[in-house]
Amino acid sequence: MSETTAMKNSVNRIHVDDLDEQTYKNLIPYTSNMKTTKTFLYATIDMILRYITEMNEHDSPVIKNGLRTPAEYRKMFTFDIDDESISLYDILANCERILETTVRSGHPRFINQLSQGVDIISLVGEIITSSVNANMFTYEVAPVFNLMEESVLAHMRQCCGWSNKESLLKNGDGVLAPGGAVSNLYAVLAARHYAYPQIKKYGIQSGLHPAMVISKHCHYSMKRAAAILGIGTDHVYEVDPDESGRVSAEKMEEKILYCQQLGFSVFFVGITAGTTVFGAFDPIEDIVAVCRKYKIWLHVDGAWGGSALLSPKTKHLLQGIDKVDSFTWNPHKLMSVHLQCSTFLIRHSNVLMEANQMFAGYLFQPDKHYETSLDTGDKTIQCGRHVDILKLWLGWKARGQQGYAEHIETLLEKANFFYETISKREPFFRMVIKPPFINVCFWYIPPSLQNIDQTLPEYNERLNKIAPRIKERMMTNGTMMVGYQRLDHHPNFFRAIISNPATTKDDIIAMIDEIHELGHDL
Ligand SMILES: *Cc1c(COP(=O)(O)O)cnc(C)c1O
Repeated sequence: MSETTAMKNSVNRIHVDDLDEQTYKNLIPYTSNMKTTKTFLYATIDMILRYITEMNEHDSPVIKNGLRTPAEYRKMFTFDIDDESISLYDILANCERILETTVRSGHPRFINQLSQGVDIISLVGEIITSSVNANMFTYEVAPVFNLMEESVLAHMRQCCGWSNKESLLKNGDGVLAPGGAVSNLYAVLAARHYAYPQIKKYGIQSGLHPAMVISKHCHYSMKRAAAILGIGTDHVYEVDPDESGRVSAEKMEEKILYCQQLGFSVFFVGITAGTTVFGAFDPIEDIVAVCRKYKIWLHVDGAWGGSALLSPKTKHLLQGIDKVDSFTWNPHKLMSVHLQCSTFLIRHSNVLMEANQMFAGYLFQPDKHYETSLDTGDKTIQCGRHVDILKLWLGWKARGQQGYAEHIETLLEKANFFYETISKREPFFRMVIKPPFINVCFWYIPPSLQNIDQTLPEYNERLNKIAPRIKERMMTNGTMMVGYQRLDHHPNFFRAIISNPATTKDDIIAMIDEIHELGHDL
């Protein structure tokens, strides 16, 4: 293959020459020859180690040679599937190239997304998970992983104050989901089933007018859940948050009454612990009171901020969480666990099972020789399910409760350092809001804008164009990555998130300098 010679140089440090002649047929299980399998696996681990080491040299690029065009990537890879097999050497060469061209989300200067960093414990968890390739749906094929999941979910419910130690396994329920969006879908599904159990069988019949009330800053997945579940996005009523991004209980109540006047019955209220952009925490305790008054399901989306429960210093941000109906909490965001790992927690023990159970006879035989409640598959919206629990469990065991408390506190300290550093750099940097959590939202103001009257519409129009231009230059250089967005009446601004423990104060200063460097002439 022509790519062999092209890629040969890149796989230089691995003693893989004899893999040139070998194919998948030289690996176990086609042959009992352990030698090729070993060489191949060691070479892979060696490659991964070099990747991780290089990524953690802080001045190395986040994207080598910057983000390229689709045409360029298509030229670098032969994506087409051919009739013939390629050699094991070429497999490694392709992997090497993938690591070369990838956007390094584990890099200390990748602050573009909420999931960041490379966590070695998580990595090991994923390698073991993949090696055993188990399936979560039944106890009989994943006994230990199912017990592990049961125990960790119970521990998380205890973090919420939903149960005491004695009744840990009995109080409430939960499931690991592929992401926060799916966890939120579970929430709306559970609430819909709780309010209207007949919909499972008959669909939404005339006469029912279900509606949802959420904060306008809720994650978009709540609206999508309404679309998927037949509620309709028109029947999701949004409440405007205040300037700091929080909705008030009064406004939520007003909206519920408004829906009732229109003839709708509100079965679901959704709020957020740690909004995606601002990092704001809605006042759970106050909203619990409103939901109890009208007997409405209250879901808190803590995909991002749920981990604040891990530190005694930040726990108060979720005050009232002990009284809600359901909760989304993503370990793959603030707990450094690798994608995918999200949890959906629910205080009602049987609702998940009742809402989703289909009794597939070939999987969930009722006459099994063990306790069939350990077969978690029938309470999910999946059939087979990936083992996401091992990396989370290993990570939590490795750190202990204490280690995660320190992790959250250190990240908050870094966010504060970020905030203080840019506050000192007025008029080039300006905050959008004072950070309520780890999110630092700010504008870069180039000199060309510094003397323009901020009340002129022209000012916002021009400011709106600054962040995208800086981002474009950043991606071309590949030096760092930070996200930007508009929100409400605010023109485009940057949102810096540091959830990678490898990001240092020097990185923060370097990134702020970089933004200035990229933007001052605009
Ligand atoms: C990220 C996020 C989600 C979605 O989580 P995924 O794991 O990406 O599906 C949902 N809600 C909030 C508040 C989030 O920040």
